[in-house]
This record gives sequence, structure tokens and C-alpha cells, in this order.
Amino acid sequence: MKKINYLRVSVTDRCNFRCRYCMPEGTKEFIPHPEILRYEEITEIVKVFTEFGIDSVRLTGGEPLVRKGIENLIAQIRELKEIEDISLTTNGYLLSEKARSLKEHGLDRVNISIDTLKPKKFAFITGTGDINALSKVLLGLKKAIEKGLEPVKVNTVLIKGFNDEEIESFIKLSEDYGVEVRFIELMPVGGKFFSKENFISIASIKEKIEKEFGKLIPAQTKKNGPAKSFIVEGTNARIGFIPSISEHFCDSCNRVRLTSDGKLRLCLMSDKEVNLKSVIRNPEYKRHHLRKAIAEALLKKSGINGIEALESLGCSRKMFTIGG
Ligand code: SAM
Ligand code: SF4
Repeated sequence: MKKINYLRVSVTDRCNFRCRYCMPEGTKEFIPHPEILRYEEITEIVKVFTEFGIDSVRLTGGEPLVRKGIENLIAQIRELKEIEDISLTTNGYLLSEKARSLKEHGLDRVNISIDTLKPKKFAFITGTGDINALSKVLLGLKKAIEKGLEPVKVNTVLIKGFNDEEIESFIKLSEDYGVEVRFIELMPVGGKFFSKENFISIASIKEKIEKEFGKLIPAQTKKNGPAKSFIVEGTNARIGFIPSISEHFCDSCNRVRLTSDGKLRLCLMSDKEVNLKSVIRNPEYKRHHLRKAIAEALLKKSGINGIEALESLGCSRKMFTIGG
């Protein structure tokens, strides 16, 4: 059986942004509140997962910082001694006001999604129409570093003709803030936004960087998941690459996902899900029921190959309901 040690937990499908590649325009339907796992239920599920070797948890969404009392969930997970690393992926909009309390409640580190460093384009791609949104997110980035939510990483989804001319600015961002910028390939999970025309491969971005800015020197980074990190020669910039589409990484995949409505998703790209909420909400619930459900599910994971799922478009969920 594969070694699975990383659990991504989506705490909500709601979001204060409407990124065009994630949440299709006009999305109005969200999971009804009673169907969303309560914090105690998430903690119980994480607890049982630790018995199967999970030692890292990432909170995601939707936007995890819009869920009320997210700090309480962090504190509950922090109590589990088997969990070594608690991280959170955020759009950063609420981070400047929350960074301190997130740290105090036990969060280790954050990843912040920033796809462009131009305020107007940022307002467009995030669907906020807010020209000040980017500066608010950059303030969040600064605060996260100040409060020690490190290593802070920036996630940038590559979109051809939109941000592939901003590579130099992202290199500068990495140097100025001392953070790793990770370029991610656009995936076909956000409704109609994805197309061959706006897809740009990691290989072509690497080539562009080496041609225009300097050789990419492999770097070691702790806790880097599927990203491969490099230093751009002659600079202090640290750049990571996640070729989710062009170089699938099923063989080295160490993760599973829990959706906010309590479904265990064995592969990002496959709709094979196991309903853990129905186990945990059964009035006769005992911990061994969850143990059995998780054990059976993890056995199935080794039979999944995401790229096949991708080719057959086995992923019917939108990204904001999975959490990336
Ligand atoms: N709201 C938080 C955020 O934006 O960071 C967390 C949830 S978001 C779904 C997690 C990550 O998925 C983000 O870095 C986002 O850029 C990425 N993502 C969303 N849709 C994507 C897509 N179609 N292709 C590639 N990455 C995507
Ligand atoms: Fe919200 Fe994150 Fe999706 Fe953007 S990528 S719509 S911030 S969940």
C-alpha cells in the first residue's frame, strides 16, 4: 500500500473570491450548512487518520478564512500529538487581520494564491472587481511572514496570455519577500474557463526563465509535496513548479482529501469518493466504524491513476468544492 501521510481538509465551499478558473461565473449553489462537517467531526476524522500514518494536515476550501472560528479547528487539530504540520491555503484577503490569531492557535504555515501582480488584472481574475484587493493580499503576505507562518509560499496558476508575461515580477516578489513562488498548471476543473488556448506548460515556463533570467538550480525545500524547487541563478529567487497536467505524479502521491461535506476523495481527479459523514453521523457511531471505512478506502487508493481519470474527465466537481 502507498504511504499516505498528508490530508487536505476543505472546511467550506464558500469563498469571498470568484476566481474564473475555479468557481464558474454565476455559481450560486453551495452545500447547505447542515451538510458541512462540524469542527468536532473533522477533528474526529483527522484523529482516526493519524492511526493510518497521517501526520500533515492542510486546511483549504473554498476560502478557509471565511469559515467562522477556523482558529478553533486549528487548536483542536494541534492537540493531536501525531500531527506534525498544520498548513492552510488561502487567497490571503483576510490574512492581515487573522495571521496573529492563526499562529497563536497553532497554525504552522500558509500558502497564498496570487495569480497576477497587477491590481486591475487581480480584480478581474478573482472576480472581486476590487482594485485594492491585491494590496490587501500583499499585506496579508507580509503579516504572515511577520507572525512566523513560515515557510510562506505563493501559488500562481499559469494562464497563457494573462500572467505568463509577469514571470520577472514574480521572481522579484520571491526575492523581495523571501518566499517561494510556485507555478501551477491550469487544470480543467473550473467549468468552461480551461482551454488549450489558455493552458501553458511548466516546461515552457522553465525554458523562458532559463532563457531570460538565469539557469534553474535545483534546491531542497522541506514540505514541498509535488513541487520541485529551484533557485534562479544570480538571484535569491526560489521558484517551484507543479506540472499537475503535463507530468502527473500519481506514483508519488501521498495525499487524500476530505471535502467539506464529509466525502473522502482518494484522487483529486477521480470522483471515487467515500462518504465518511454518513459513518460519523450514524447514531450508533463508534470510532471503529470510521477506522474500518478509512482502512477500506485507503486500500482502494492504490488502484487509482489520476491521469486516466483526467482523460476520461472523471472529475465532475469544481475546484472550490474540493480545495485544490
Ligand atoms: N481559496 C484558497 C485559495 O485560493 O488559495 C484555497 C482553495 S483553492 C481551491 C486552492 C488552490 O487551488 C489555489 O491555489 C487555486 O489557485 C488552485 N486552483 C483552483 N482552481 C484551479 C484550476 N482550475 N487549476 C489549477 N489550480 C487551481
Ligand atoms: Fe475562492 Fe480559492 Fe477558488 Fe479563488 S481559487 S474562487 S479564492 S476557492
